[in-house]
Amino acid sequence: MNRRDLLKLGTLVTAVTATSVFGATQVKEEPKKEEKIIKPLNNGDRVIIIGGGFAGLTVAKNIKLNNAKAEVIVFESKNIFASCPYSNLWFGGVKNVDYNNLVFSPLKPASNYDFDIINDKVVSINRDKKLVTTLNGSYEYSLLVISTGIEYDYSTFGLDEKEARKAYSKFPASYNGGFEQLSLKENIENFKGGVFVITVPKGIYRCPPAPYERASLVADYFKSKKINAKVVVLDPREKPAAKAKGFLEAFNTLYKDYLEYIPNANITKIDVDKKTIFYDKTNLKEAETTKESLVFDDANIIPSNKASKLLANSGLELTPEGWGRVKTPTFRSLNDDSVYLVGDVLGEYPFPKSAQMAHSCGIILGEQIAKRLNKEDPKEGSVYPQNVCYSLVSQNSGIYVTHKAYLDTDGKVKVKTELFEDIEKETFDSTKAWYAGITSNIFE
Ligand SMILES: Cc1cc2nc3c(=O)[nH]c(=O)nc-3n(C[C@H](O)[C@H](O)[C@H](O)COP(=O)(O)OP(=O)(O)OC[C@H]3O[C@@H](n4cnc5c(N)ncnc54)[C@H](O)[C@@H]3O)c2cc1C
Repeated sequence: MNRRDLLKLGTLVTAVTATSVFGATQVKEEPKKEEKIIKPLNNGDRVIIIGGGFAGLTVAKNIKLNNAKAEVIVFESKNIFASCPYSNLWFGGVKNVDYNNLVFSPLKPASNYDFDIINDKVVSINRDKKLVTTLNGSYEYSLLVISTGIEYDYSTFGLDEKEARKAYSKFPASYNGGFEQLSLKENIENFKGGVFVITVPKGIYRCPPAPYERASLVADYFKSKKINAKVVVLDPREKPAAKAKGFLEAFNTLYKDYLEYIPNANITKIDVDKKTIFYDKTNLKEAETTKESLVFDDANIIPSNKASKLLANSGLELTPEGWGRVKTPTFRSLNDDSVYLVGDVLGEYPFPKSAQMAHSCGIILGEQIAKRLNKEDPKEGSVYPQNVCYSLVSQNSGIYVTHKAYLDTDGKVKVKTELFEDIEKETFDSTKAWYAGITSNIFE
C-alpha cells in the first residue's frame, strides 16, 4: 500500500451501522453501498486474508515463503495481537508470566516477509465481484482466505442484546485477546472471597480444555493467597470436554476445598444485576431434571462460540452449527473455489479449535496457495495437520493431548487422538517451549 492509498483510507466516509459481537440479535453491519475500490487489481493476483490471528498470519507468511512475488493483504480489526494461549497462566499468577508475554506486533513478520497488514474491519464480501468491503473502502481479490476466529453468542444463556452487553462488560469472557483479558485479570486480583463462577460454553467452542485449565489456575491462585473462595464450574456436559480424567483428578485432589465442578448444568438465564445464574440440572441416573440457581460474587461468563456472520452473509456453505464447510480434503469453500477457510472458523473436519491446529493448517494452506498462484499443482491432501495442546492444572504441572489428522479409506478426514493425563511437572516446561516456538515462528 503506498502513501496515496493510505491517505484515501483516512478520508473515505464510512456508512456502517452499529456492530454487535454478542450474537443475541442480528445487527446489520453493512455499508450502504460498496465504497470506491481502493486498490484495483488490474489483472494481477492478490490474496486477501480476513483476520490476522494465529491462522491468518501463518497463511500470509507461508504464501510469501513459497512465492515471494505474491501480493498478500491481511485485514485485522484489532490494533494489537493479544494471545489467548498462555493467558490462563497469567490469570493464575504463574511465576514469570506477565501481560507482555501475550502481546505481539504483526508488523515485524509483515515487514520481514513483505505482506501488508491493514488495521481495518471487513464488513462484507461480494463473491460475484470478488470484492471485500472494509470500514474504509473496497478491495478486489483473486483469492480470499477467511480466518476470522470466533464470535460470542450469549443467546444460548437466555440473554438478549442488552443483557449480553452487560454480561460482557461486567463478567468478561476473555475468550478473545485484548481488553477483556485486562478486565478479567483485574477481577481475579480484586476478588475478596466467596463464589467465583466459570461457565463452560454450550456447543462447539474454541480450545475445549481452556475453561478447565482456567478454573484450576484461578483456584490455585485463590488457594495460594489464602482467599476464602470457591471456583464453581458450570458445565452443560457430563464431564470436561477434553482431558476429562486429568482435570477431574486435579479438581478432586489439588482443589478439593477450592473448586466445585457441576456437570450436566444447562444454563437457561443469567440475572447480571442480581448475580444469579439459573440452570437445569440433569441427574442422569434418576433421569430427572431439576431447576437450580446459583448466586455468585464474581464470574467469568464464557458464552457459546459461533463463526463470523460474514460467512452466512456472503452465502458460503455452512455446517448446521454455522461453521465453514470446505471440499474434502482441501481448505477451499464447498461452494466457492476462490475462497479458503482456515482456523477456528472451519467446521468441516473434526479438528479441535486450537492455535496449534490453526498454525499447522496455515502452513499447509500457505504453501498450497503459493503453488496455485504459480500455476503449479497445489497437491491438496498430500499433508495433514497435527496438534498438541498443553493444559496446566497448577502453577507448575500439567496434562496434554495430541491430534494427528489423516485421510481415511472412506474418503473422510479424521483425527487420531492421544491423551497424556498424568499430572506431570515436565509438562510445564513443554508448555513454555511450545508457546515460545509458535509465537517466534509467527512473529519473527
Ligand atoms: C483461554 C484460551 C486458551 C487457549 N490456549 C490454547 C493453547 O494452549 N493452545 C492452543 O493451541 N490453542 C489455545 N487456544 C485456542 C486459540 O486461541 C485459538 O484456537 C486460535 O486463536 C485460533 O486462531 P484463528 O486464527 O482461527 O483465530 P484468532 O486467533 O482469534 O484470529 C482471528 C482474527 O480475526 C480478526 N477478525 C475477525 N473478524 C474480522 C473482520 N471482519 N475483519 C478483520 N479482522 C477480523 C480478529 O480480530 C482476530 O484477531 C486458547 C484459547 C483460549 C480462549
